[in-house]
Amino acid sequence: NEPSERTVEAERTVCPFCGVGCTIEYAGNETTTGVEGPVNTRGEICPKGAAAFDVVTHDDRLTEPLVRHNGRFVTAPWEEALNRVAERLGRIRDDHGADAIQFFASSNCTNEENYVFQKIARVLGTNNVDNCARLCHSSTVAAMGERLGAGAMTNTLDDLSETDCLFVNGANPAEQHPVAFRSYLLPAIRDGASLIHVDPRANDTTEAADVHLPLEPGTDIEVANAIANVLLEEELVDDAFLAERVTGVDAFREHLASVDVEANARAAGVDPEAIREAARLFGEADRGAVITGMGTSQHRCGTDNVHALLNLALLTGNIGRRGTGVNPLRGQNNVQGASDVGALPGVLPGYEPVTDPDARARVADEWGVEPPAEPGLTEVTATHRFGEDVHGAVVFGENPAVTEPNATAVASAFDELDFCVVIDLFETETAAHADVVLPASSWAEKAGTVTNTDRRVMRMRPNATLPGNARRDLDILTAIGRRLTDVPEEFEYDGPEAVFEELTRVAPIYAGMSYDGIGDGYQRWPFPVDAEAGTDVLHTETFATGERTAPLSAVDPTPPADTLDTGELTLTTGRVLQHFNSGALTRRSDRLMAMRGEDVLQIHPDDADDRGIEDGDTVSVANERGEVTVTADVTTAVRRGVVFCTFHYAEPLVNTLAGDALDPVAEIPEYKHSAVRVEPVAPP
Ligand code: SF4
Repeated sequence: NEPSERTVEAERTVCPFCGVGCTIEYAGNETTTGVEGPVNTRGEICPKGAAAFDVVTHDDRLTEPLVRHNGRFVTAPWEEALNRVAERLGRIRDDHGADAIQFFASSNCTNEENYVFQKIARVLGTNNVDNCARLCHSSTVAAMGERLGAGAMTNTLDDLSETDCLFVNGANPAEQHPVAFRSYLLPAIRDGASLIHVDPRANDTTEAADVHLPLEPGTDIEVANAIANVLLEEELVDDAFLAERVTGVDAFREHLASVDVEANARAAGVDPEAIREAARLFGEADRGAVITGMGTSQHRCGTDNVHALLNLALLTGNIGRRGTGVNPLRGQNNVQGASDVGALPGVLPGYEPVTDPDARARVADEWGVEPPAEPGLTEVTATHRFGEDVHGAVVFGENPAVTEPNATAVASAFDELDFCVVIDLFETETAAHADVVLPASSWAEKAGTVTNTDRRVMRMRPNATLPGNARRDLDILTAIGRRLTDVPEEFEYDGPEAVFEELTRVAPIYAGMSYDGIGDGYQRWPFPVDAEAGTDVLHTETFATGERTAPLSAVDPTPPADTLDTGELTLTTGRVLQHFNSGALTRRSDRLMAMRGEDVLQIHPDDADDRGIEDGDTVSVANERGEVTVTADVTTAVRRGVVFCTFHYAEPLVNTLAGDALDPVAEIPEYKHSAVRVEPVAPP
C-alpha cells in the first residue's frame, strides 16, 4: 500500500464532462487543452474541458480506503476494506437473496468498468443494476427503442451540419453541448438552416432561434400534437415516405383530427401562430432534424413526449437520411456507453432483453453463469425500497443523495441499508451514508473506452498516475468480483483491452470493434463482426427493428403530477455551461466556480413583484418535500409562473423539491415540473 510518487504526462484522451466527447490532453501547469480529435476536429473545447485537470489534483481526492468504525470513517488497508465489502454484501445475498442488493453504475466511467460492474451484479444473481441514464434519457431510449429499434441518436453530429431545420425540444445545446453546437449546429444555421426552440426558458440556444415556443413545463405533447395537426392540415407531410415506411397513418390522422391548434396553444401558453410557423419551417425543410434533451424526457409522460416528437419526424420523412432524424443529446461523457454495455436492469450488453432466453444463453456461454431472467429494479424504485427488500447498495461513481428526486428523503433512505459501499474520487454526499468508501481513479488516470452521444466509441488513455493509495476502477471492480462471486476466474483480466474484447463477443452492436481499429479515432455502433465500418445514419432501408416500416403513435397529454395551489409557481431545472450534473466534480474547480460559484433562481419580474422580491434577494423555494434558499435572478428569460434553477449544487439541493412521480414505462422522474412556493427570506 505504499503510494508511489505522482507523475503526469500528455496523452490524448476524452473529456470527462459531456457526451460530445472532445479529445483533450494534459498541457502542463495542471491544465488541459483540446487537441484535434474525431469530434473537436480543430481541437476546440469549452470551459469545462479546459478545467478538467482541476478535479484530478484536487486536495479533496480520496487516497486511502475508508471503513466506518463506531460511526466514523477510519482509513484501512485495501485488503481489509475489500474483504469487508465482499463479506457484508455476501451476507446480504445469503440472508435475503441477490435481489436485495442494488448496483448504481457510473455514466462517468468507461465501458470496460461498467461492463465488469454489471457482470458482477448478474453473476451474483440480480439484474438490479442501473445507471444515471435512468434519470436523463431512459424515456427517450424506451420510446425510440420501441418505435425504431434503437434508443440512440439516429444520425451523427457531422451530418447534422447539413440539416435545413433544427427542431430543438427541451435541450440547450449552446450551453450543454457547446462544442457540438459551435462545430455542427451553428454552421448549419449559418448556412441557412432554421432553428425552432421549444423550451420554457430563453437561453443561449434561443438566441440563434427563428421561432421560440416558451411552453409551460409539461405541455410538450400539446405542442407536438398541434404541430402534427398543422403538418397534416397544410399537407406538409411526406406522402411517399408515409406510404413506404410508416404504418398507422389513418388512425393517426383520425386521432389528430380532434386536436385543436388554438386550444393546445392555449394549454401550452404559446402563440398559435408561432406553432404554425414552426410546423411550416419543419414541414417545408428538405432535411429536418429533431434534437431532444432532458426538458422532453424528464416528465412522468417522458416516453409519450418522445413518441410525440417521433411522430413529427416520421410524418415529414425525416428519418434515415443525412441531416435528419431524432437525436437525443446525451449528458454524461459515457451515459451512452454505460447503457450500451448493459448497466440497465432490463437489458444485457448490447440491449439484448434479459427476458430473451437466447440472449441469456449467449451471455452464459461467455461467463459460465446465466444472468437472471427477471428485469431488475431501476435505481429510483430501488431507493424507495431501501430497508424494505433492498438491504445493500454498491454505488460506483454516482451521487444519488444529490441526483435522485426527493433527494433529502433518498439520502436518509441510505441509512436504512444494512451495508453500502461507495467507489468514488471524493467523499460525496452519498459517501457520507456509506459503510466503506473506496478511493477510485479519475478520468486522467485510466485507460478504456467511452461512447459519445453519436455512438462513437473512443479510447481514453492515462495522463497521470494515481494519488496516494487510490486504485484504478477496473482493479477495484475486478477485486470485488473475485471476492464476492462464485466465479472468481471470471474477473481475471489482463487489462481493459481484454475486457473490451469480451464485450465485443457479448454485445452484438460492438461485435466488429477493437482497440486497434479505434486507434486515435473512433468506431461507431452498430458495428457487426466482419463489417468494414460502423453505421452513421440509422434506419436508411429498414428500421433497427428489422422492419421496413415504423408506426405512428397517437399520444394524448398527461398533466404533471404536481398541481399548483394558489400562489404556487412551477419549478423547472436544467444545466449551465460551467457545471456538470451533481457538481461533485465541477464544483471542485476554482476556475469554474469563479465563473459560476452559486446557483440562482430565475423568476419573472411580475412574479417577483407579486412577492415583493427584488433582484439579488435571498428567497425560499419550498414544497412539502423540502425547502432551499437561493438568490433571486429577476429576468424575463423565464415565463410568468415558472422559475428555473440548476441541479448542480448540493446547496441549494434543488432535487429535494422534485417529486416521486415516475414515467410508467421508463421510471424516469418528473424533474421538470415541481409546484413550489417562492417567498423572500427576511434579512436576519
Ligand atoms: Fe468536454 Fe463537452 Fe466541453 Fe467538449 S463540449 S470540452 S466534451 S464538456
